[in-house]
Amino acid sequence: MGKMHTRLDKALDWANKYKNVVFLAVCMVIHLAYMIVFRVLGVSLLAYLNFFSSCFYFYFLFLKRDTSETAMLSSYFEILLFSTLSELALGRDYGFYLYIIGMSATVFYLVPSYKNKRFFYQIIGIVLTLVLEGIVIMTDIGIPYMQEILAPYQPVVYLINIAITATIVMAAAFFYARELEKVWETLRYNMNHDVLTGLYNRRFFEQQIEQIRAQEKSPFVITMLDIDFFKKVNDTYGHEAGDEVLVQVSSCLKAAAGEENLAVRWGGEEFIIYFSNTTADRIYPQMEELRKQIEDMVVEVAGKEIHVTITSGVAIGLPDSNYEKVIHNADEKLYLGKRRGRNQVVV
Ligand code: GH3
Ligand code: MG
Ligand code: MG
Repeated sequence: MGKMHTRLDKALDWANKYKNVVFLAVCMVIHLAYMIVFRVLGVSLLAYLNFFSSCFYFYFLFLKRDTSETAMLSSYFEILLFSTLSELALGRDYGFYLYIIGMSATVFYLVPSYKNKRFFYQIIGIVLTLVLEGIVIMTDIGIPYMQEILAPYQPVVYLINIAITATIVMAAAFFYARELEKVWETLRYNMNHDVLTGLYNRRFFEQQIEQIRAQEKSPFVITMLDIDFFKKVNDTYGHEAGDEVLVQVSSCLKAAAGEENLAVRWGGEEFIIYFSNTTADRIYPQMEELRKQIEDMVVEVAGKEIHVTITSGVAIGLPDSNYEKVIHNADEKLYLGKRRGRNQVVV
């Protein structure tokens, strides 16, 4: 996840969140603009067509206040109808069919929950374009008085239609890719982290550690920690209270590990911290401090105050030690601490 949340990012998030509203508003503005232009040029039939289309968007935006996917699908067919009528009325290359092609691509993004039906909508658009352009190219269709008035403006209208379609398709592709990237970020995060506590999960640690060891070539420390009598917490205060304890203990662990080390949720209420490039005598005071911090911590859940303690085992690894053996060693020390009465650090 990007650390810097720029203004642009926020604007893009906003646009993405309100993409349906933005889309409907853009459509309405384009139709209104065309309505005015055609009215001024005296092509009143096309002006009326755009007026009705604007009303369609006005209805969804301001009267029905519906910006659901159903509204998006309606607008897709509105665009198909509008483009068809414009093409047939003009009978020349003004590029109104481009909207159908552009929307056939964009509809995918606008109505995600329609799943496979989207292919069907696309096929409708593409077949319609083929038939429409077949008619326009092979027949003399078109309303002569309009063709006469608009002939000098044909290149401009054509270019404007290309520009608008290209922009819409580009924006849809951009936001689609952006949304996908966010989904990937979430997936990657969930793959590597424990969802409850936000610590790294065991899968991630086991996947990374060999590589880390191969790179570091220095002594390391592995601490294994386990909450004392955690079953009692669950039994006395309930499972949800137990979860809250796990969350708060984990945040202490995360802080103790800092940026360079790895705090991992190893199992239910068992954790390990991997400290790179250090020795046990440097880690011991830190673990002792963590132990005290958790001993003093009060977890408040539903008006109840919960106190817990942890026991930890600290094991040293030499540059070429097998990390699994070090973990095993830390585990044995942890259980030694449990037998000796808990709430302690064993080195
Ligand atoms: P000891 O001091 O010997 O460690 O005692 P303990 O009760 O902590 O020991 P044990 O490991 O037997 O108990 C762990 C309990 O942790 C059992 C299980 O129900 C609970 N637990 C495991 N994962 C979770 C979780 O995600 N949430 C909650 N609330 N409890 C969990
Ligand atoms: Mg325990
Ligand atoms: Mg345990």
